[in-house]
Amino acid sequence: MTQPELPSAAHDARLHDALTRYWGYREFRPLQRAAIEANLQGRDSVVVLPTGGGKSLCFQMPALVRLDGGFGLIISPLLSLMKDQVDGLVASGVSAAALNSSLAPDERRQVYADLDERRCRLLYVTPERLVGDGGDAFRARLREWGLRFVAVDEAHCISQWGHEFRPEYRRLARLREDFPDISIHAFTATATRQVREDIANQLALREPEVLIGAFDRPNLNYRVLVRAGVKDQIRRIVDRHPNEAGIIYCVSRKEVESLASWLDGLGHQALPYHAGLPDATRRRNQEAFLDERADVMVATVAFGMGIDRSNIRYVIHAGSPRSVEHYQQESGRAGRDGLEAECVLLYSGSDFVRWRQMLDQSGELSDTSKRLLRDMERYAAGTRCRHRVLVEYFGQTFDRDDCAACDWCLKELERVGDPVTLAQKILSTVVRTGQSWGMGHVIDVLRGRSTDQVTARRHHELTTFGLLSEMPIAELRGYVDQLTQQDFLLRTDGPYPVLQLTDGGVTALKGQSEVALYRQPRPTPGQRRQRSDGDPATWDGVDRGLFEALRQCRTEVAHARGVPPYVVFHDNTLRDLARRRPTTPHELLDCYGIGARKAEDLGPIILDVIRDYRGEPDTADPDDLDPSSEPS
Ligand code: ADP
Repeated sequence: MTQPELPSAAHDARLHDALTRYWGYREFRPLQRAAIEANLQGRDSVVVLPTGGGKSLCFQMPALVRLDGGFGLIISPLLSLMKDQVDGLVASGVSAAALNSSLAPDERRQVYADLDERRCRLLYVTPERLVGDGGDAFRARLREWGLRFVAVDEAHCISQWGHEFRPEYRRLARLREDFPDISIHAFTATATRQVREDIANQLALREPEVLIGAFDRPNLNYRVLVRAGVKDQIRRIVDRHPNEAGIIYCVSRKEVESLASWLDGLGHQALPYHAGLPDATRRRNQEAFLDERADVMVATVAFGMGIDRSNIRYVIHAGSPRSVEHYQQESGRAGRDGLEAECVLLYSGSDFVRWRQMLDQSGELSDTSKRLLRDMERYAAGTRCRHRVLVEYFGQTFDRDDCAACDWCLKELERVGDPVTLAQKILSTVVRTGQSWGMGHVIDVLRGRSTDQVTARRHHELTTFGLLSEMPIAELRGYVDQLTQQDFLLRTDGPYPVLQLTDGGVTALKGQSEVALYRQPRPTPGQRRQRSDGDPATWDGVDRGLFEALRQCRTEVAHARGVPPYVVFHDNTLRDLARRRPTTPHELLDCYGIGARKAEDLGPIILDVIRDYRGEPDTADPDDLDPSSEPS
């Protein structure tokens, strides 16, 4: 079903007006406009934008600006995600609702009544609601209510090639049959070509418009450290961000518990989150983090999808995730406000062995999961620009030589003085122990440790025994990883991976190839260099005192309304307010993220805070707050 044609100037104005009026934004982000047009023209689409790229607007706005009065259905995997989006929309004056099991009967009746009377523009549901029990009748109602398009959020969940396959998403394949004449739109942050094509096939999209955004997140500062004294490493990072929000991802629940209580004991407001906690505790902890009552969330991967706290300043992985997709998505939760944030991966080669075992036990060890794991290992042990590696992984090109925002480009990795000799020591130990041992044993020999296994095999009699006795174990592991990554060594698959030399390794052992090895970062990595791209999301010109006063006010409003603070205002909005210090409602509308509805709703409170902060008496004329009096 296609939108009636509008003269293009009027159409432009209509979209722009909605953008400023409801969202308070000045311009579209890359590809948002194209995604909206595809929808309005009734054309299927696959939209791939990184986390924080602004996908929601792409499916929210078309529902609002349609001239035919129809509405849009959004399929989203998580109730919490839906609730936040609906709260945010309603706060901006858009009529939206979610239908899910947590609604009270009278709330449900209200949503149905709104749909019957065509008052609702956006309806959020889970896949189960749509294709589970009772789905047939529900789909028939959707047609009666004038459904115009379906947007599938987190669409990679439909693909078995992806890293987050959800069986209930598979059943969405029937959407096309049920709704042959409306457009279907898939949204995801993570899609290699294979996943992208799988999404389009599974949903039976018809010649979809494929829109793929730039994957680089220049404000994120990536670092990788070999894990050694993990608490100290974490503490150093957390201490760099006093009173700022951060997430620490751990692989196991036990690690989550122990790190959270340790940080708490140090006086940080840290909370645990994992699937083994009672529902109520989990919800409480998540809310405390989103409401800015807690700074640090220590969590397993169970935490995160749809976490829209935009001012997360760091994401630490205390162990490697199982795919680059996971890493990109989890680390991508940092810095959604566009301000500088850091992502630190603390890893050890043993993480990957552990993952293989865990995946094997859960029956998930497949060629796909092994490949994803190997790619992650390559990222971790990599000695190239991290931004480049990530961007290229997602099939895009990176055109800068120096990102100025990763450990490699910031030259935090030190080149080893005589890498050839060091490599020879390691490679020759692998050969002398018969190429049938794992990294732990090879390292024991190099460090001269007479373990039972070492003595039983008489490996303490080898000439390489104890050659690197002074070297810390983590550093040595790092070199083995680098040699593996540079294809001098090969780590076999299976539950007990062993190290073997490749052809390149044989050449290197003879001292006939170039090898570059890097020492892991010095204890205190320097801060990133200043960016020079004039990004508006900076602290330039921001009155910090006023920012804090506004933040306090936001917390109070959020509390009173029972919504997370970012639903009230994003940090970017607070910063812009604390920079421009508006004194009139018209000036308020010039600030980032403030549309007419927000100005009407919260303008008086904000202007009060600014006035109080400046120590001025209240002189505002209440009539001046009428949002219908447009700025000239
Ligand atoms: P995604 O779903 O792609 O991760 P969101 O839709 O949550 O991203 O948007 C990320 C952030 O960017 C949100 O804070 C949102 O308010 C903001 N945003 C989206 N579009 C724009 C825009 N055109 N101008 C300014 N900010 C925007």
